[in-house]
Amino acid sequence: MKAITWHGKHDVRCETVDDPEILNPRDAIIRITSTAICGSDLHLYDAYIPSMKAGDVLGHEFMGEVVEVGGRSTLKVGQRVVVPFTISCGACYHCTKQQYSACENGNPADNQDLGRELYGEPMSALFGYSHLTGGYAGGQAEYVRVPFSDVGPLVIPDDSLEDEKVLFLSDILPTGWMAAENCAIEPGDIVDLDGRVIGRHQGIVHFTVGQRKGLGIASAAPLYVVKLDAAGRRVVVGPREALRMDRIRLRDVNWIGDGALERVIGDGIEMFVRVRSTRAPQPAWLRAIDGAYEVELVAGEEGVSPGQACVFYDAPSGQARVLGGGFIKSAAAKNTAARAVQETIAPPLVEAMRG
Ligand SMILES: [Zn+2]
Ligand SMILES: [Zn+2]
Repeated sequence: MKAITWHGKHDVRCETVDDPEILNPRDAIIRITSTAICGSDLHLYDAYIPSMKAGDVLGHEFMGEVVEVGGRSTLKVGQRVVVPFTISCGACYHCTKQQYSACENGNPADNQDLGRELYGEPMSALFGYSHLTGGYAGGQAEYVRVPFSDVGPLVIPDDSLEDEKVLFLSDILPTGWMAAENCAIEPGDIVDLDGRVIGRHQGIVHFTVGQRKGLGIASAAPLYVVKLDAAGRRVVVGPREALRMDRIRLRDVNWIGDGALERVIGDGIEMFVRVRSTRAPQPAWLRAIDGAYEVELVAGEEGVSPGQACVFYDAPSGQARVLGGGFIKSAAAKNTAARAVQETIAPPLVEAMRG
């Protein structure tokens, strides 16, 4: 069969490998119909995760059709299944507590000890994810062997559900679900710039700064999300001009342009910056102010939110060279509507602008 195999850092190939076979009575063989590339696969691609071996078959997010079963599999040939990335026995101490990613069987003990060094706790076997997790062949292939096939695979009973609608049950959706649960997302208020409550929401996670659609609030003029107040569980909405920021304070600035940044910055460096991934880099100045780096956007930018990246370029488009970048710590504005928002977002910077 054809499979995607790992051969070293940045060396991944599509090549012919042996077809999988039933090795244990609880195994099943799945013909893959859809598979995904995970962000975690980049750790393998970048050779960040140790214990990969040349020829290892990648892929831990996949689904397909059951084509062969061992004597103790509960699956039936012809069934459509989504296969979770964890290989779990279903009967050990952790599995009986539904802590499948800590299953004690499937991943040999020596690997578990090594995995503990990396992740802090021993972990279960995984598909296509290094020999720390058992060295099992993954699902970026035409076929895969699924051990303990009576435990993990989810049978998709309804043919009307396309692969794309259920494939992400293999990893992405439960991972995101668990993150959301751990965050204890709660409903809260939607407020205007004066703090008046004008609606309710089901969790600030459903909103992004700059969003206009889907607010569920009737108003004469269009309203935009201008701030997400996580501590107060408030979504602050206002007119478009309230989004326009002119100055951005950065943290963790990384400079790959010529010279050491402290020495070359002088009174400021004229450059182009991108703070929204969908827009072209725009003219700006990078300055050092009070021991921090600050970007002044010549034309301003809407929908700037803390935590986003700000990337420096030497030209607005085409063959622009990346000069560095940083993460947005806070933003400030010249116009009054946006400044009203700033009063709560970045008090120290607003003070600095006044002073
Ligand atoms: Zn994944
Ligand atoms: Zn187990």
